[in-house]
Amino acid sequence: MAYEVGEKSQAWFERATRVIPGGVNSPARSFRAVGGDPPVVMARGMGPYFEDVDGRRYIDYLAAFGPLVLGHANSHVVQAIKDHVDEGTLWGTPAPKEIELAETLVASIEGLEQVRFTSTGTEAVMSAIRLARAFTGRPVVVKFEGAYHGHSDGMLVKAGSGASTVGTQDSLGVPWGVVKDVISLPYNDIAILEETLAKIGDQVACVLAEPIVGNMGIVPPKDGYLQQMKELTHKAGALLIFDEVITAYRFHYGSAASLLGVIPDLYALGKIIGGGLPAGAYGGRYDVMQYVSPLGGMFQAGTLAGNPLSSVAGLATLEVLQREDPYQRMAELAKILEENILEIAQEFDQPITINRVGSAFTVFFQENPVYDYTTAKMSDPVKFARFHRLMLERGIYLAPSRFEAWFVSAAHTRQEIDKTLEACRESFRELSRG
Ligand SMILES: *Cc1c(COP(=O)(O)O)cnc(C)c1O
Repeated sequence: MAYEVGEKSQAWFERATRVIPGGVNSPARSFRAVGGDPPVVMARGMGPYFEDVDGRRYIDYLAAFGPLVLGHANSHVVQAIKDHVDEGTLWGTPAPKEIELAETLVASIEGLEQVRFTSTGTEAVMSAIRLARAFTGRPVVVKFEGAYHGHSDGMLVKAGSGASTVGTQDSLGVPWGVVKDVISLPYNDIAILEETLAKIGDQVACVLAEPIVGNMGIVPPKDGYLQQMKELTHKAGALLIFDEVITAYRFHYGSAASLLGVIPDLYALGKIIGGGLPAGAYGGRYDVMQYVSPLGGMFQAGTLAGNPLSSVAGLATLEVLQREDPYQRMAELAKILEENILEIAQEFDQPITINRVGSAFTVFFQENPVYDYTTAKMSDPVKFARFHRLMLERGIYLAPSRFEAWFVSAAHTRQEIDKTLEACRESFRELSRG
């Protein structure tokens, strides 16, 4: 491959590898899955653009893996942070901004009657699961293959060999005792969930799902799937948790749950609600939230939770989203990308499938429908890696994994979309030459 990242990126990354394992603070940032390191080292973001340390510009579809729904350095968000920062960065006491953010979330997310902040999405999911176990007095968590719910021990579990077999660890350092109570099932398969709950439903604390999956690429639920999931979960006496860390406020001003008409007992939130600063939250049914310490016996805490600057950035982001309601425009731009990429791929005889929901979509390098992890994994990793490089070379920054989404932000305009399509055309032409 001809393309090389800039000299300064290379130099910074070399320094990084000496002091940070693999040179990255999250493995998802590495370029190992897309033809190899070094990755591009970024210097700044502005609107829909990134600029790297060598001064090269890219149109950004990463959105920092989801949070940056307004694009980089939105002026309203930046100003809100500036206005607040002189008053200190952390108090360890209740404070108005975290309370305002909690009120804003409760007012806009259906079924969120109370909410508790954390610092990350990982903690939000971990705590929601602890709460479901506390409330039901049961141990087992049912989740779905290919879904990412953060990096807590219990969530690093992949599927067992069949329905209702327990999982195996996805990471070294996760003891068997932790994963033996976590079951991973194929997504979008109601029969297997029904079978599992029929067998062991009385031990299940919660069924945990993304209502629209974002972490094996975008995978929407089949018609009726979530409604049936909710009914089966409640029939078993378990709680339904929706992990909306990616999806809340991504598709409209609220949760994906209310778009789809299926409200869970508990939500896990993160990403967009922190406006680019660290934040997570979990909450839902009032009676269930009464179990949270100091009211109840479910302990959960956080020195940095409800951080005033994160609350301010989150509030400012939600204010812009509510005021400007950019969702339809974002979805229209994403639709233009979807339709034209499909056409270009066909023109150059490259089999692809695109799953799109609103402003988020994934290009899978295979021609069959993608509705679960097995079908998502059929996306050709070598083709994706090559495409990723070709696009990068043309100034388009895509997430360095075939299982991530392209996120169109409120800062993208028709101009960026047209440039992206030009780059797509050249990239697919190159791919077709082998
Ligand atoms: C990103 C993500 C998480 C983890 O959030 P962090 O803030 O990275 O800990 C959990 N669940 C889903 C669905 C996510 O996309």
